[in-house]
Amino acid sequence: MQDADVIIIGGGIMGCSIAWQLGKYGKRVLVLERKDVAAGSAGATDGVVGYHTKRPGPQMDLAVASIAMFRDLAGELGENIEFDFTAGGMQPAEDKMQYDLLASIAEEQRTSGVDIRMISGDEARALEPNLADDVYGALYCPTSGKVNPLKLTNAFAHAAKRGGAVIQTETEVTGFLIRDGAVKGVCTDRGEYYCDTVVNACGSWAGLTAKMAGLDLPVTPRKGQLAVTEPVDFFMRATIQCALYNIIKFRPEAIRDKRALKLGASLSIEQTENGGMIIGSTREFAGFEKENTFEAIDVMMKRAIRFFPALENVDIIRFFSGFRPYTPDGLPMLGETAALKGFYMAAGHEGDGIALSPITGKLIAELIAEGKPSYNIDVFSPNRFLG
Ligand SMILES: Cc1cc2nc3c(=O)[nH]c(=O)nc-3n(C[C@H](O)[C@H](O)[C@H](O)COP(=O)(O)OP(=O)(O)OC[C@H]3O[C@@H](n4cnc5c(N)ncnc54)[C@H](O)[C@@H]3O)c2cc1C
Repeated sequence: MQDADVIIIGGGIMGCSIAWQLGKYGKRVLVLERKDVAAGSAGATDGVVGYHTKRPGPQMDLAVASIAMFRDLAGELGENIEFDFTAGGMQPAEDKMQYDLLASIAEEQRTSGVDIRMISGDEARALEPNLADDVYGALYCPTSGKVNPLKLTNAFAHAAKRGGAVIQTETEVTGFLIRDGAVKGVCTDRGEYYCDTVVNACGSWAGLTAKMAGLDLPVTPRKGQLAVTEPVDFFMRATIQCALYNIIKFRPEAIRDKRALKLGASLSIEQTENGGMIIGSTREFAGFEKENTFEAIDVMMKRAIRFFPALENVDIIRFFSGFRPYTPDGLPMLGETAALKGFYMAAGHEGDGIALSPITGKLIAELIAEGKPSYNIDVFSPNRFLG
């Protein structure tokens, strides 16, 4: 007797998005989450839904398909997810060298047909008047937006439940039931649950979960530290990252400052609907260590004031950190594993999982329900790591 057609492990933004989409096919879905919905990265992240932060190539193409879905998402989900597609995305550069590096990355990004341009310092300040006087120039993407990740994850979860999914929290998956090379269910701290299809949507923990099934899939945590300010009057419209953000992500060899490289520290900043600003962040390999460190906070705050001097008079109300599900090639793992029938991966979206959540849910549901997704995801197959 099966408990569900599909068991999804992880009640983060991926698990809930997939559960919602599978419900459209009439599938009986059980989501098992060891803590609570959005207890993972979705509760500790920025909300950039932008093109300009995406790796040129397959990841950018996937982002284009995903961001197109955001336009109708609030309506489909029936909830306010604070999606603003007019916010824009900007990356100010401090000097010509940073500007030229951004320009060369943008040239590759534009091959996916996205509007990413280079603008002068004056043009950047006209768009964002609080920007420092000496900013040299900036990358600008007028069609990049932002969303509230917590609201979006919860909206996916609510819609999934309306579609018939059961979301069972406080249930940790501890192992798998496997017979003749196929998955037959999961073991949890609350007993066994039977099914023929399992989706590993455990975010940064997906590598550990795969290991329980005997699969060596390299998804590991990449820590990001963040700060939140007190609410202030309108301060900025775009989501803004300093030039180092894209340079660390896509041209790390160009960074000479060893401390900046070790911490992966660059400025990312956005203002939320309640007026508070989220300031980050770092890209660190520190295992599952979640502490905020003085070293990282010092770098982040100095960079925030360097680009926005008026922030000197704004108070920080809390610090926190989250984990980005990192993969060695910077691409997520989407699809069924060849080594274990019925075992699907939907993890490893690193710092782009909020933006990529709608398309991930859609494609994984299509793959499971119809046997083939409407968009070719071969390049994201987990089998690239399974030899
Ligand atoms: C600082 C920071 C900034 C970011 N900024 C952005 C951004 O601006 N834009 C963007 O698109 N993305 C951003 N991201 C990335 C984004 O947050 C993640 O890619 C995304 O949240 C991953 O979602 P997920 O559902 O895969 O993982 P998670 O949200 O981590 O969910 C995984 C869930 O699985 C559960 N779980 C794990 N193991 C088990 C088990 N054995 N049994 C049951 N449940 C289990 C966990 O409790 C967790 O709830 C950022 C991330 C960080 C850390």
